Amino acid sequence: MDAKGVVKDFVGQLKRYSGIPIWVVDRARVIRDPQGKTLYYDGSLVDITEQKRMEEQLRLSEERYRDLFENANDGIYILDRTGRILSLNRKAEELTGYKLGEIRGRSYTLLVPPGPECQKARRAFLKNMRGEPDKNELTITRKDGRQLILELSTRPIWQNGQIVGIQGIGRDITERKELEKLKSGFVSTVSHELRTTLTSIKGYVDLVLAGDTGPLTPEQKEFLTIVSQNTSRLTALINDLLEIERLESGRIEFEFTELNLEEVLQNVARSLQVNAEQKGLEFVTEIASGLKVRGDRDRLTQVFLNLVSNAIKYTPAGTVELKAYREDDTVVVAVRDTGIGLSESDMRKLFQKFFRSDNPYVRKAGGTGLGLSIAKAIVERHNGTITVTSQLGQGSTFTVRLPALARPERPLVLVIEDEVAIARLIATYIEKMGYRAVMAYLARDGFDQAVRLKPDLITLDVLMPDLDGFALIQQLKKHPVTVNIPVIFLSIVQDKQQGLHLGASAFLTKPIDERKFYETVRALL
Ligand code: ADP
Repeated sequence: MDAKGVVKDFVGQLKRYSGIPIWVVDRARVIRDPQGKTLYYDGSLVDITEQKRMEEQLRLSEERYRDLFENANDGIYILDRTGRILSLNRKAEELTGYKLGEIRGRSYTLLVPPGPECQKARRAFLKNMRGEPDKNELTITRKDGRQLILELSTRPIWQNGQIVGIQGIGRDITERKELEKLKSGFVSTVSHELRTTLTSIKGYVDLVLAGDTGPLTPEQKEFLTIVSQNTSRLTALINDLLEIERLESGRIEFEFTELNLEEVLQNVARSLQVNAEQKGLEFVTEIASGLKVRGDRDRLTQVFLNLVSNAIKYTPAGTVELKAYREDDTVVVAVRDTGIGLSESDMRKLFQKFFRSDNPYVRKAGGTGLGLSIAKAIVERHNGTITVTSQLGQGSTFTVRLPALARPERPLVLVIEDEVAIARLIATYIEKMGYRAVMAYLARDGFDQAVRLKPDLITLDVLMPDLDGFALIQQLKKHPVTVNIPVIFLSIVQDKQQGLHLGASAFLTKPIDERKFYETVRALL
């Protein structure tokens, strides 16, 4: 009984007259006389059947979720915001060969072979930490050393407007990948054989055509010309087919260099100008200068040659336009034409192998329907995208977006720290890791540099003479240029919660633990 005289609530089940059981709570109150003597109990029965039902449902749905998580046919895992493994379901344990107890708290990078796969995983992690989901194919190394290829979908876990971790779902596609490899091996062997045979046929036909075996009648000449032309077409088709198989299986080596895309596009424009003129089309180019990308010169040339020659090929009259410009971190190349255009359903199938729209103009133009799927594969190997907008009878625009090369590949870390000696020490750590460091000794200077240099990471002291780190991080998180840059707080004071609350990605106390510093920086870059 409490001070107000409420006797503990009694919860129980009653049976209605109809026989249906209901849940009730009996709220009993003691009524006393002024001397405190109990007079009687005043009870009220409240029907809480509905509430009970809801609770039961919630319990069941939680159980069901746990059940789903545990018994899902896909591996499911949860990472914290620094990339440490928090949870694995049964399938994930099966895929990795580890029990959760063995690797809980370890970095996810433990499961990824070092090199390009690890870089890919890191990129996805950072993307998630920026709030975006990601889908990727990733090779992992099992506990027993065997490698698996997983199809991974990852997304951030939000709580009160903050990203608190990452959830991933992985499916084993190793077998499928092996089959694909087999298939593409088969295609390439067969194509090779076909190509050799065709080369021989064409060689001899051309000899006969050239009169090497004696004079030909006009009819013989006409027929053999058709044979020769069709052999060439077949060879082109097989070449395209081989190329796409090799691209898709990743067996083509790309030669990535720092490329001036302006130069590539000018060359493409120059070589196709004549074709446009011959058709009486107006050919307009508008190419910005200083468009730097990391790319394979020949392959990208091939992509843009294909897009511009398609534009010319599928435009009976009007204009073909080649435009290129920079948009934030992206180089955009748009090829626009006023040609035959594409229907909605054609646009959906456009990048599939062998697709050609069912249009008399297209049939007449000739082609294999492989050019665009090759272009797409090449652009995707450059981490780019290719899209189309079009209106039937009005024209089309093909747009390629490639990541712009803005700065050297080595990540840049901005160290904002008023104590010169400590700033130097941190910079040394950063350089030891192979990254670049810039220092700012005042908060305001730090802010200006952050906006100007757009570093990949900021380390921030909390106590500074002109403005404290908490105020500074709020400014950084408000500015569009700096909002997504991860910030590590370094402080002697224990104000981790406030730091993380304001959007810091990590918090380290001084004196700095070198190993922990490396771990944190590496996870964020
Ligand atoms: P090909 O031109 O050899 O047929 P592509 O893969 O380059 O192969 O193009 C596939 C199909 O997409 C073409 O057959 C055509 O139907 C359509 N297409 C491509 N570019 C354009 C364009 N600029 N305008 C209209 N249709 C186009």
